[in-house]
Amino acid sequence: MGHIHVLPSDIQNKIAAGEVVERPSSIVKEIVENSLDAKASVIEVFIKNSGMDSIKVVDNGLGIDYDDRKLLFERHATSKLGKAYDLFEIRSLGFRGEALASIGAVSKVTVESMSENSTAFKLNYSAGHYEEDTVWQERQGTIIEISDLFYNTPARYKYVKNLRTEAGKIIDIMQRMALNNPSVSIRLVFDDKERFKTPGNGSLKEVIHILYGMQVSTNTVAVSGDSPDYKVSGYIVKPEITRSNRNYINLSINQRHIRNFKLSQAIIDAYHTLQAKDKYPLVFLNITMDPKLLDVNVHPSKVEVKLSKERELLELVENTVRRALLDLNLIPEVGHQS
Ligand code: ADP
Ligand code: MG
Repeated sequence: MGHIHVLPSDIQNKIAAGEVVERPSSIVKEIVENSLDAKASVIEVFIKNSGMDSIKVVDNGLGIDYDDRKLLFERHATSKLGKAYDLFEIRSLGFRGEALASIGAVSKVTVESMSENSTAFKLNYSAGHYEEDTVWQERQGTIIEISDLFYNTPARYKYVKNLRTEAGKIIDIMQRMALNNPSVSIRLVFDDKERFKTPGNGSLKEVIHILYGMQVSTNTVAVSGDSPDYKVSGYIVKPEITRSNRNYINLSINQRHIRNFKLSQAIIDAYHTLQAKDKYPLVFLNITMDPKLLDVNVHPSKVEVKLSKERELLELVENTVRRALLDLNLIPEVGHQS
């Protein structure tokens, strides 16, 4: 007799949940990414008690087929990865089919949805059990509400100690989603108080204005550049506007928010002589590239990514920002000749 045995599936799910949904803000991220993947043009997010009591996301996306409703909470069940090689060519934000399984393992979830040409449904899911409810409405889209977070994993409940920090993280994530998706109207409501709402008209500058105010938005400079494998575009903010940390360097690749120390550093280097040592710029850049060159599968939260041809990209980003800053200095403020 050996000693190794396979864990029961509910235990497996709880363990895996720790990687994907360690806190309310990571749940918000996963659920809103699903709405974006479903091509929603309007997404509303309602948060109660920093997400510990309730996280509710309402979208007008493609909806979920009635026949798929029981697969939602199955691990590795996804509509987004077709064939195996898709893994090296990811175009959607989600692809692991793990988020809902993990969320369902540590909270109570209600899903209401209707897709085109399919019956609407509503179901409650908790601890592996489904309960079906009456049909809701005649509108395509999905409403997901997550409540009683971590009710069955007390250790993790305790870990989310500081609710204010958590609220800050949720705002941060939602702001980045809004910046990366100016064509989607995104609204964030905390305990019945609206934090922000973007118009969804495609203007990144307007999103910047709504999130960071007049002083920042009127000092933005549009930038763009390309190299054989990459395209960079977005806005930088004039060097006189500064922040005291690097969190305002917003980077995304193919509209997925990413963190990459070297890329941030390349931007800081471009600003180098223009800002004091402990000051950092505000930057909003999206990089477009062939998904084949990008490995987003390195980390469950999909924030850290592996890049091939990294040097080429670092040079492109640094040069694009540097050029825009140089142009700024070359244009005289006064003294037009005409
Ligand atoms: P993944 O996003 O990696 O596929 P998830 O567990 O996040 O895995 O979601 C499982 C599946 O549920 C998705 O593949 C999608 O088909 C469906 N789904 C979840 N949320 C939505 C939504 N808001 N609109 C439409 N479909 C959704
Ligand atoms: Mg997902």
